Amino acid sequence: MSKHGKLKIIPLGGLGEVGKNMTAYEFKDQILVVDAGIMFPRNDMLGIDYIIPDYEYLRKKADKVVGIVITHGHEDHIGAIHHVLNDLPVPVYATPLTRGLIEVKLARNNAGSKAMLNTVEAGDSVEIGAFKVEFFHICHSIPDSVGLGITTPAGFIVHMSDFKFDHTPVDGWPTDYAKLAEFSKRGVDLLLSDSTNAERPGWTPSEMVIGPAFDKVLTEAPGRVIIATFASLISRIQQVADAAARHGRKMALAGSSMVDNVKIARKLGYLDIPDEVLVPLDQALQMQDHKVVLMCTGSQGEPSSIVGRLSAGTNRQFDLKPRDTVVLSSHPIPGNEETISNTINRLLRRGANVIYDSIAHVHVSGHASQEEQKFLINLVRPKHFMPIHGELRQLMRHAALAREVGIPEENIIVAENGQVVELTGGRVQLGERIPGGYIFVDGESIGDIDYGVMRERGQLARNGIFLIDISVDKYNGRILHDPEIITRGFVSPEDAEQIIPEVRKKVMQVVNGGGMDSQKDITNAVKSYLHQETKRRPMVFVTLSKA
Ligand SMILES: [Zn+2]
Ligand SMILES: [Zn+2]
Repeated sequence: MSKHGKLKIIPLGGLGEVGKNMTAYEFKDQILVVDAGIMFPRNDMLGIDYIIPDYEYLRKKADKVVGIVITHGHEDHIGAIHHVLNDLPVPVYATPLTRGLIEVKLARNNAGSKAMLNTVEAGDSVEIGAFKVEFFHICHSIPDSVGLGITTPAGFIVHMSDFKFDHTPVDGWPTDYAKLAEFSKRGVDLLLSDSTNAERPGWTPSEMVIGPAFDKVLTEAPGRVIIATFASLISRIQQVADAAARHGRKMALAGSSMVDNVKIARKLGYLDIPDEVLVPLDQALQMQDHKVVLMCTGSQGEPSSIVGRLSAGTNRQFDLKPRDTVVLSSHPIPGNEETISNTINRLLRRGANVIYDSIAHVHVSGHASQEEQKFLINLVRPKHFMPIHGELRQLMRHAALAREVGIPEENIIVAENGQVVELTGGRVQLGERIPGGYIFVDGESIGDIDYGVMRERGQLARNGIFLIDISVDKYNGRILHDPEIITRGFVSPEDAEQIIPEVRKKVMQVVNGGGMDSQKDITNAVKSYLHQETKRRPMVFVTLSKA
């Protein structure tokens, strides 16, 4: 087939970071979007619930977007879908389980009614505008994951989202290697592939290794076993249910996201949990402790999750008991290590036994390691290679692996979010740069919080505040009564007792002296005085009322 035209590959998220995966493919006046995920905030992103990709580029060309294809049901691939559909009411294509999880998400955000959801199956080929998309099955830590073969007039792309080459997956359905081999024969112009574990040598162990680890935990636990993982880690939930059944324990689910996801996955046949194994939480809490497994969220130590609340003693429905065993069945997302460590310490202090991935095989990665990544490149033999999904160091490592297996240096493209890549005449080159940053979601506010606000929050947190309330006579400008001064997070109460009268004197002097009359002048005077006395810079606020 002769190739013509220019295909733009537009990374909007997931390149140079872990999470909020989103890629757009643009040919002439048509745009196909792959995935719409969220990213969890770093520790220094104060007050932020989550982050979504900056998809301003798509919003500007909303009439050109022909569809959104979702590769699987993890939050870093579907989490932003309700935001995106709000701006781009276009058809969505997903496999049955992924679609089910999207429906749950849309319903929770009251965005379900107008969404145009289309179900596709692995093996299907769908024409979406100028793009022919072939869906093929891949293994990951959630069933029904797909990779994409995307045929465009400018060339043929293989888009490999999160994957691992697991020969004994939990659902018994291995990756469609034959399809990848067939693509290779057809000639692949560009392969995009998951870089998450590009620094990890060898081969990622099969999900099956977790079974014996859970058996050991359930045999040895004297009381309740509380297992935390992501609500979307459907394969893990299946493994816990199997283990519970083997050990004569009942399983109950805590937390609405876990309950909703299990409900839809069971309904669609992706979770095989007998009715007699799954009991409502209320019932489980009445049973003998050694007969119970509770599944919940909070494996990343999130303070608002069930495990986070258990560690703090603030969970409403049930509290931790001294003989409980808590299992954190996930790996820390970069940036969460400290929170998780604190949570483990708090759980231990409250008397629980805590088991996590560095002391037992209670978690295995869902992402390919180096040997699998090289195997994929060898199987597909693409002309060009572009690492996706990972921080820059992982993208670079993945690029090095591609060189090792013989992809020429000049045919490897390491790009970060917002760096457009162009495929023309069978050649790949860098194109324009477009916005590819963060949109912060903080409760109901989407995108109102920027780095300026974040810096202010950081400054408040680091240096504290100093508030001065002054009332002056509107006729002669003299202070009516002593300025009221409050300080928080700045100095100890004892030091504050010493500093405040001095600041009060200073303020009265300058205002009564008539030398300064504006808030700004007083603020600056106080700031420099505080810095001189304490060598620190709290945020200073002055309110000046005239009466
Ligand atoms: Zn995933
Ligand atoms: Zn992912």
